[in-house]
Amino acid sequence: MNRIRVLPENVSSQIAAGEVIDRPASVVKELIDNSVDAGADRIIINVEKGGKQLIKVSDNGVGMSRDDLLLCVERHATSKIETASDLFSIKSLGFRGEALPSMASVSRMRIISRPKDQIAGHRLKIAGGKMIAIEEMGSPTGTIVEVGELFYSVPARRKFLRAAKTETDHIIDILSRSVLPLPGVQFRLDDAGKMIMNLPASDEQLPRLSGLMGRQVAESMVEAVEKNHDLRIRAYLGPSELSRSRGDRLFVYVNNRNIRDRLVTKAIMEGYAQRLMKGQYPQAVVFIEIDPSKVDVNVHPAKQEVRFHDGAVVYQALVSTISKALVRTFYGPIDKVDERDRWGLDRKDSLSFMAEKPRDYFKPVKGKSASAGAEMRVNSIVAGGPQIIGQLGNTYILCQVEDGLIMVDQHAAHERIVYENLKKVSHNSQIENQALLIPHEVELTLKEKRVVMGNGDRLSRFGIELDHFGGNTFLLRSVPAPLKDLKWDSLISELLTDLEEGGPEDTVFDKALTAMACHGAIRAGHRLTHEEMAELLNQLEGMDLPENCPHGRPVFKRLTYYEIAKMFKRIV
Ligand code: ADP
Ligand code: MG
Repeated sequence: MNRIRVLPENVSSQIAAGEVIDRPASVVKELIDNSVDAGADRIIINVEKGGKQLIKVSDNGVGMSRDDLLLCVERHATSKIETASDLFSIKSLGFRGEALPSMASVSRMRIISRPKDQIAGHRLKIAGGKMIAIEEMGSPTGTIVEVGELFYSVPARRKFLRAAKTETDHIIDILSRSVLPLPGVQFRLDDAGKMIMNLPASDEQLPRLSGLMGRQVAESMVEAVEKNHDLRIRAYLGPSELSRSRGDRLFVYVNNRNIRDRLVTKAIMEGYAQRLMKGQYPQAVVFIEIDPSKVDVNVHPAKQEVRFHDGAVVYQALVSTISKALVRTFYGPIDKVDERDRWGLDRKDSLSFMAEKPRDYFKPVKGKSASAGAEMRVNSIVAGGPQIIGQLGNTYILCQVEDGLIMVDQHAAHERIVYENLKKVSHNSQIENQALLIPHEVELTLKEKRVVMGNGDRLSRFGIELDHFGGNTFLLRSVPAPLKDLKWDSLISELLTDLEEGGPEDTVFDKALTAMACHGAIRAGHRLTHEEMAELLNQLEGMDLPENCPHGRPVFKRLTYYEIAKMFKRIV
């Protein structure tokens, strides 16, 4: 039964407190956490004006008695913990008894609730923290919380709320994350009377993963499960070629709580190891279930951080679970990498690389290394330009040049080339496009769909035409002219995140070019033929800034004969 108590001062003073209600989305999060803690398996959310006018959450959980209703809006009143020691073994999402009182003090709130074992329910009305009425009334079992006119009593904070659409976007965001560990709970979100999200209860994880990550990513994810006595890990791992330049599609849950944790992120990255390029983050969802006494969730007011008692154990378990699962799947023998042309750029037929006159960056560096190197030169001196020695680890092109060795990072190099080629075909921040003969179907998440709807003209400036086909499906009709044969879905998803983040036009446009270059470039780990390597270096020579990729990482490194000789102590 519910039985709420006000925590004694010695307990409440140990709680990591702070204002957590800052916008409608945080109200929604706290209310659905409460419904989940109440054991509900059906949770319906209605919002008006992005939640600024009304947020209503109805559940079929255990409900509250009249006494509990009166207590639930008191500070530090909770049914979830009793003593200070309970703080170190938290099994519920809430525990501080602060959410309802915080909301009650800044809105017009109504709570209607009925526990299963009672015939009548009660309705509590409270405004600006002042109790207005409590009355008996008929109601279904469960609880309905209505938060009206959020911040009506604090105009300074109400002013900070954004347009209704933006606030709804935040709600969708928080909801998509909250529903992931709870496939057995039905969720529905109605905005201004229109249903915008409906997730039936199901044993399967896929539908919810699709909602959050898009169908293409969700379907390509690999499941990894690992258990030992007090730790259970379940991970859904996107393939490394769908990795992104930011960690926004990396979701971590500890005992069903969505958290951010540097240690966990690091462990996930280490599990992927060299499958990820530098600066790239995988798309992945990781659920960690751990004995509640082995993790402290009372660290941060928003309960988004945790502290593991034995971080090293969790770290190791994550790395091994993830790396094992990935070895089983994506990392077939390296020779299986297909030799198909995935360059994404039109290539010239002639590969007369050696005939080209060498440019500056293949010339010897100035200074002592050049002269000292000259003495130390081993056999063949390269006249005319670099000579390709071969490919190292399917990732670096090794070339012999006049004064030593150059290692070229093939991805960074090609990224630079694609980037500059895209720049060449853009005029006034408008990239030339080309129609696809067969439109490509793209499945977006609900949030992405809303970004497309609001940014059609900006996308078309990027050379991308997307037509709404129905539901969350769009048809990609045209693409930037210099790109072809890409994983369009993941590029589009990244562009939409750039658009959503906004910023000055120029910055957004340049970010888009960088994302396109990254997606359009050959990957690390892709085997290249000698001709392909030669052509890549040839094209690189024509670039304005061949030294760095658009992200600023180096494209090549030089090791002079002088340095090599030093290394081998031939000279001191
Ligand atoms: P906390 O969740 O940290 O306990 P809240 O202020 O969110 O604090 O809620 C206070 C109490 O009100 C909870 O401990 C719970 O007993 C009760 N309560 C809140 N929402 C619900 C609900 N939807 N169903 C049943 N009980 C609820
Ligand atoms: Mg709560």
